[in-house]
Amino acid sequence: MLDLKGKKVLVVGLGKSGLAAALFLRRKGAQVTVSDVRSAEALAKDIPALLEEGIMVEAGGHGLLTFRRQDLIVVSPGVPLDTPELAQARNLGLPIIGELELAARFLKGRILAITGSNGKTTTTTLAGEILQEGGLRTLVGGNIGVPVVSLIEESTDDTWSVLEVSSFQLESTQEFRPAIAVILNITPDHLDRHGSFENYARAKEHIFACQQAGDFLVLNADNTRTAETAARADSQVYWFSIEHKVRQGAWIETGYVVFCAAPGAEAEQVMPLGKIPLKGEHNVENVLAAVCAARLAGVSAEAIRRAIEKFKAVEHRLEYVATLQGVDFYNDSKATNVDATAKAVAAFSSGIHLILGGKDKGSDYTALSPLLRERVRAVYTIGSAAEKIESQLRGVVSMHSCGTLDGAVNAAAAAARPGEVVLLAPACSSFDQFENYEHRGRVFKELVNRRGGGAAWPSE
Ligand code: ADP
Repeated sequence: MLDLKGKKVLVVGLGKSGLAAALFLRRKGAQVTVSDVRSAEALAKDIPALLEEGIMVEAGGHGLLTFRRQDLIVVSPGVPLDTPELAQARNLGLPIIGELELAARFLKGRILAITGSNGKTTTTTLAGEILQEGGLRTLVGGNIGVPVVSLIEESTDDTWSVLEVSSFQLESTQEFRPAIAVILNITPDHLDRHGSFENYARAKEHIFACQQAGDFLVLNADNTRTAETAARADSQVYWFSIEHKVRQGAWIETGYVVFCAAPGAEAEQVMPLGKIPLKGEHNVENVLAAVCAARLAGVSAEAIRRAIEKFKAVEHRLEYVATLQGVDFYNDSKATNVDATAKAVAAFSSGIHLILGGKDKGSDYTALSPLLRERVRAVYTIGSAAEKIESQLRGVVSMHSCGTLDGAVNAAAAAARPGEVVLLAPACSSFDQFENYEHRGRVFKELVNRRGGGAAWPSE
């Protein structure tokens, strides 16, 4: 375990996890400085609490000297590791770790870690609820919005910490060793930050880099890049598939979710497919991954079934909003990449009015063409990515340039006929017009509910 007493530690980036890490480090007796490129005004709400704890704050940029004088640097997931100041610190031989790595060194009990390009939050939430239903002492955190350091105090030797981990968090891990690691899928995302698909995929592989023979790795057999990773694992690989039977793991057979614990062993029925209360095949994948992980953690099939049957879609993930004049409105604001949008579109057979756009992440939207042709009646574009989307998808489907979400909801609602669907699954991040995807999703719901004459959604 790291001895932090009297050590000089710099926390780079004052997001939610940076703040939690700084306060944790201070409680452990470190001399902590926080450095953020945002201005003091932008950080105003957190500064008093930090100063009160005796934590120094450097706002409005990073001082090169600040980075030299440290024993340890803890970097927030939002900060690219190739930032010049970090590159210089690395050259000087200073240890640089992320909040996940820091927390994992102090967390008691076992870790079930879940990564993937899409489905992390849904699967982490579901796995957390299943383990709880199974009577295990369970904590849930990570990229899901609860910093991992904030779980440390509550963790005990018999705790399972169910952690959602992103490629940004995994990039800076060194000793992170989950007892069970899950990779849901690896499809192109965040290419603006990772540089290439391969770099991004390699960052995800950090999830099992320290695993040993007694640990488990759960992989999606249907996703080529994910399946490939098995060759590099030292742990026991379990598979899940919605397409075929696997050697050991979870799949679908005669309308049932089944699990097989070892090659040749009899598969056990966990639950009927029809009892999964979530829309879309991608959610069946998430369920299979959670079932597999939970069985490996020792939860009974019966407890797994109970937890899944009462599970509700997480907000902004293919969330049903309302039916207005026969038209269903769905909010999938969390579809911030092309694959998630493809899965959302695939969840409806036809008659889709699809709202696309926001801030581009270097994505290739042409991958959507076959699905759009097959199921989508019209696309309504918003935000700064609109031009790129329109030029890549011209001629594939009827296209309306709407600028804002308000304009898109109006245009889509006016065009949609009873039995059709208006779907917000924008394939882009939201930062050009909204604070984040939650904000975008809430505004969408508010616009829809206003059309229905209902009360406006309470906005935070
Ligand atoms: P993450 O935390 O990885 O972003 P979420 O559960 O928040 O995952 O879902 C993100 C988006 O991806 C949503 O639009 C959701 O509908 C879609 N999605 C969920 N699970 C999957 C999956 N297994 N494959 C592809 N898309 C998915």
